Amino acid sequence: MRKLLFNSLFHRPLTGRAPSPDEAALQEMAGSLEQSARARLGRSLAIRMVDAGSCNGCELEIHALGNAFYDIERFGIHFVASPRHADVLLVTGPVTKNMCVALTRTHAAMPEPKWVVALGDCARDGGCFAGSYAVAGAVSDVLPVDIHIAGCPPRPLDILQGLLSLLAPV
Ligand code: SF4
Repeated sequence: MRKLLFNSLFHRPLTGRAPSPDEAALQEMAGSLEQSARARLGRSLAIRMVDAGSCNGCELEIHALGNAFYDIERFGIHFVASPRHADVLLVTGPVTKNMCVALTRTHAAMPEPKWVVALGDCARDGGCFAGSYAVAGAVSDVLPVDIHIAGCPPRPLDILQGLLSLLAPV
């Protein structure tokens, strides 16, 4: 233990430098998303997130949206606890058999208009969990999916881009 502490004084930690954040792109994307939400809904955007069986990698990127750097609440984009307050159902992971009923009930409890976003490669086709005895299928096998955000996991800016394309006028 003493040797470990001694070494840590003279060696840098084995971690890489964090990528430099693109504040301008974030400002532009989140600002556009806020405007689109107000145009389509007349108010800010409320998101209910459901982990249907992910490895939690996608959740880490979603959580990053709320950290001090991305801070998407400042653009009027909120994660809500109740599906009755939500416009978007954000689903991660393959849909496990244990989560299938909870997911469909959450969707049924949301008011119209509502959108379903499948986030991550597992949500699209089961990803590395496809074929497991515990998996019911992809999100689109259980719910009508409006948009899929690709990646394993997708970056926070990819998530914002996906939400923006969801609300963009057709
Ligand atoms: S897409 Fe990748 S990060 Fe997301 S739940 Fe699947 S394995 Fe994990």
